Amino acid sequence: MEADSRAGTRAGRSAGRMSEGRGRRELETPRRRLAERLAAGGIRNQRVLDAFASVPRHLLIPEALRADAYRNISLPIGDGQTISAPGTVAQMTEALELTGDETVLEVGTGSGYQAAILSKLVARVISIERVPRLAASARTALDRLGVSNVIVHLGDGTGGRPADAPFDAIVVTAGGPEIPMPLVEQLAEGGRLVGPFGARDQQQLIRVCRHAGGDLTREVLGPCRFVDLLGTHGWAAA
Ligand code: SAM
Repeated sequence: MEADSRAGTRAGRSAGRMSEGRGRRELETPRRRLAERLAAGGIRNQRVLDAFASVPRHLLIPEALRADAYRNISLPIGDGQTISAPGTVAQMTEALELTGDETVLEVGTGSGYQAAILSKLVARVISIERVPRLAASARTALDRLGVSNVIVHLGDGTGGRPADAPFDAIVVTAGGPEIPMPLVEQLAEGGRLVGPFGARDQQQLIRVCRHAGGDLTREVLGPCRFVDLLGTHGWAAA
């Protein structure tokens, strides 16, 4: 009796492993298709496309929304916040022009998806999130994915992280009224900052580059709409 029930348990476990494996394979196809759609939509950087083909977005969103994980749409992640659409994350990531050795600052960890994508492309990611529950759940999700080169800090990211500066790249994933000056100051020579800035209901995606000698250039990459960047150098929290 005992031997039978143990055998049953073993069989059950092994069936569980098999269906987990099948589930994993079934989800690899949507990830690859997502990368193909991003390429068709204009993303050219193969390292960026490979990162999108490998990061399991479905494990970074609420379980009830998993069926929509690989659609090119933003999704709610609680606390009034969203995980950005993959196309937007890809555009911002490509605009950072990452080569592999960088330390990147992310303002707005949210679900941890952008951080997980960056983790595949650079040496180190420092990500700041102001909502405690999101910072904690992103950390847990990143740990489950085995992502070890992302540090998540809780706090107002509009002031950056002077202790870890300068940064080779900075990505701001919430929309602010203007580019926070502390972030520009924490950009390394040759560094790039990408983020959405402008009115509350419509921003422009902006890239700022700090050139040798400290000169700054600013490019508008296109219109976009993000949740609010709240904080000392963002919108005032209600
Ligand atoms: N990068 C995220 C992802 O991959 O899911 C997208 C996050 S969502 C569009 C923007 C995030 O910025 C929200 O989680 C919000 O709480 C956060 N945020 C807003 N203002 C912030 C601030 N001053 N410092 C840090 N995080 C902030």
